[in-house]
Amino acid sequence: MKRVYTFGDGKAEGNAEMRNLLGGKGANLAEMNLLGMPVPPGFTITTEVCTEYTQKGRDAVVKLIQKEVEDAIAHVESLTGKKFDNPENPLLVSVRSGARASMPGMMDTVLNLGMNDATVASLAEKSGNPRFAWDSYRRFVQMYGDVVLGMKPKSKADIDPFEAIMEKVKEEKGVRLDTELGVEDLQKLVKLFKSAVKDFTGKDFPDSAWEQLWGGICAVFDSWMNERAILYRRMNQIPEEWGTAVNVQAMVYGNMGENSATGVAFSRDAATGENMFNGEYLINAQGEDVVAGIRTPQQITVEGSRRWAALQGIGEEERASKYPSLQETMPVCAEELISIANKLEDYYRDMQDMEFTIQDGKLWMLQTRNGKRTGAAMVKIAMDLLRENKIDEKTVLMRMEPQKLDELLHPVFDKSALKRANVMAKGLPASPGAASGQIVFFADEAETWAEKKKKVVLVRIETSPEDLRGMAVAQGILTMRGGMTSHAAVVARGMGKCCVSGAGEIKVDYAAKTVEMGGKVYKEGDWISLNGSTGEVYDGQVPTAEPELGGDFGAIMNLAAKYTKTLVRTNADTPRDAKQARHFGAQGIGLCRTEHMFFEGDRIKAVREMILSGDVEGRRKALAKLLPMQRSDFEGIFEAMDGYGVTIRLLDPPLHEFVPHQTATQKELASEMGLTLEEVKAKVDSLEEFNPMLGHRGCRLGITYPEITEMQARAIIEAALNVKNRGISVHPEIMIPLVGTLKEIQNQADVINTTAAKVFEERGESVPYKVGTMIEVPRAALTADQIATVADFFSFGTNDLTQMTFGYSRDDAPKFLKFYKEHGIIKTDPFEVLDQEGVGQLVRMGVEKGRATKPELKVGICGEHGGEPSSVKFCAKLGMNYVSCSPYRVPIARVAAAQAALEE
Ligand code: ADP
Ligand code: MG
Ligand code: MG
Repeated sequence: MKRVYTFGDGKAEGNAEMRNLLGGKGANLAEMNLLGMPVPPGFTITTEVCTEYTQKGRDAVVKLIQKEVEDAIAHVESLTGKKFDNPENPLLVSVRSGARASMPGMMDTVLNLGMNDATVASLAEKSGNPRFAWDSYRRFVQMYGDVVLGMKPKSKADIDPFEAIMEKVKEEKGVRLDTELGVEDLQKLVKLFKSAVKDFTGKDFPDSAWEQLWGGICAVFDSWMNERAILYRRMNQIPEEWGTAVNVQAMVYGNMGENSATGVAFSRDAATGENMFNGEYLINAQGEDVVAGIRTPQQITVEGSRRWAALQGIGEEERASKYPSLQETMPVCAEELISIANKLEDYYRDMQDMEFTIQDGKLWMLQTRNGKRTGAAMVKIAMDLLRENKIDEKTVLMRMEPQKLDELLHPVFDKSALKRANVMAKGLPASPGAASGQIVFFADEAETWAEKKKKVVLVRIETSPEDLRGMAVAQGILTMRGGMTSHAAVVARGMGKCCVSGAGEIKVDYAAKTVEMGGKVYKEGDWISLNGSTGEVYDGQVPTAEPELGGDFGAIMNLAAKYTKTLVRTNADTPRDAKQARHFGAQGIGLCRTEHMFFEGDRIKAVREMILSGDVEGRRKALAKLLPMQRSDFEGIFEAMDGYGVTIRLLDPPLHEFVPHQTATQKELASEMGLTLEEVKAKVDSLEEFNPMLGHRGCRLGITYPEITEMQARAIIEAALNVKNRGISVHPEIMIPLVGTLKEIQNQADVINTTAAKVFEERGESVPYKVGTMIEVPRAALTADQIATVADFFSFGTNDLTQMTFGYSRDDAPKFLKFYKEHGIIKTDPFEVLDQEGVGQLVRMGVEKGRATKPELKVGICGEHGGEPSSVKFCAKLGMNYVSCSPYRVPIARVAAAQAALEE
């Protein structure tokens, strides 16, 4: 078994196809070599070794790969003409993680590995640049101390122990920037860093390059299991089994002086999708300096630089002298970089996110990957690539992450309200969107507030991977430092979250929990609004409006319609929701819950009257009041869905949910109905159930009180006739809830059919309708062949089906499911993502048995899962006619359904 793959000098043992084995970074480093691009030589230890590392432990794995790693180092030595662990012409390397899926910043990297007192002296002499040598040494001790030896800040309010030392040294010297530190300061830093390490670990800092290398390699494997990597995997559903590869690569130095630099670049705009090469760089810098926001990064292109300066309110003269673009400072390297970016994009046929370093005027590529992007950019880039004939329609659809379409549907700031809003600060438009929320300063507080259903905006000096959870729950993120490629910006775009970064003029004070902007001091809990598309920060809450759809979004929807085999309906209870969903492309209603209509206005009174009546006559009287209201609701919905099927579910919840529980309301009701308070109380108490979700609900209500079903069936049929006469094409489907036996559906179907026949006779006209059932009780799935003898259609109610299959109460499960998820007992919440393994078997069985009886049986799903991409695909592949979901999920389901068809 080969465990190490080398690359360098235009050759490589791996290639882009091998990302599972070499990780994304390793595979692409190999490929860039094969494409003839300048890449420092190195090698990749495979992801399989990471799995071995977890299973067999450190010592066993070191033994397994020792020989291959030594040979690979020798290979790098021969290509660079330098020697590892040898002060004469020292080879320094970086040790980098790299999983199959990119996990930016989640795992660890060590740069300048191989440094010790002897190599630093030789490096200083050879380069004639002692500052560079000591700067590299200082960085190395810091990174190694952090990543390998575990020197981390003690608490969230503490700064990094190395940063603390550095701040002190800078302060003593009276300087602000790292670049202002001289050789002696850096020497002092190395000394202080090392002694801090010794205090912390009780051991001397390791001098041997080999010891350092093994420490680095093992630390990368360990970082696969660190807390933030685990969290990121969970959030992005990346399996733990994948493991990370380790890349060891000869260092190139962006910190060699004014003719050296480091940076990141994107072949298109990751926020908007605009076809515009862009990126940021820093002169005399290394590694993460650009993303860490230590100094203000400069733009790569002149055009980008001018745009940036305009946003910052910086004039052209100042821009050109203080913040010139790479095209101005190092034009040859800039042009080479642009040409490489074009080549890479053509090769991968997707937007690339690249890292590069310029060492003494020579460009080196360090990484390329398909860039993370917002939902809007995802749509625009794919459609642009289609128009550029670089990808085909099917690829466009397969490139969609359906979930991300959600970002395009959500409100934007109301234009007229924006005009009146007070701009308090301006930063960079790092990730588009409109966000209003209360200010919090720490990620964990963002979480606590969000748990209390508060909307928060996370305000930070800068963010780090530790802040991930807090960023995930915030409405938006505002940072004081950091550019368009800062951690906050990249992560926010990945999450589709609104972010304004690098708002330089705001002053964040963590200790006081305040932020000063535009002359006003904001405290924790104060409201602000962020415009991620312009970088503006507004005072207070700015109202929002619906986004405009169409354009590329519409084009994606058309493509989905072209390739899908599954219709997408919506769950809608009101004409308003129905219209909204139709606007998003819904083709019918899969679930209209009649009970929601019962709560509107005065209706609840009639409902209560019906429930509290002691006899059939009393109930009929109350139901007669409800009939016209239900009828007019149904008319509205039929109209909105002109031409499409509308599935209306008969009354489902336990009656207890409708009756008043407060004495005052009970009194009022009693007097209206001519009852005593005691009688009302007694009736309310009698409706109380130990386990209402398994109690007197669903068809059990309609069977015991057939007059309810009669009224609802009448309302539906009459409404259908009425709208039909207005020229509307109406297709009512009456759905019976909670059926578990053949007798139950027979009973209710009889009531419905008899009622319909009566209405048709009264009116002297008719309309076609269907009678079907929810499949949500496991017994219904098990006996679907019998039930299909009566039903015209099945609709899988996977919320209840999940509840009853697992035996998890939907209302009580969140308490322990959170724990289950955190402890790996379950991978995903079965109420969010359909459990294909268990519940899915019942669904499959229901479809198969039902269609065995009645091949033309119409089948759909109307649980929450109908809008979750993996569940939609499962249903589509089972051959369901439609999935139904809430209006805002319709576009997601449409694309997921089309992808399912393409995957087959
Ligand atoms: P991440 O996956 O978190 O981006 P990387 O492995 O890409 O981590 O490394 C972090 C930084 O170090 C990047 O900016 C990268 O460009 C830089 N870097 C990595 N290897 C080298 C190298 N051999 N020479 C110079 N810089 C390097
Ligand atoms: Mg990084
Ligand atoms: Mg990187």
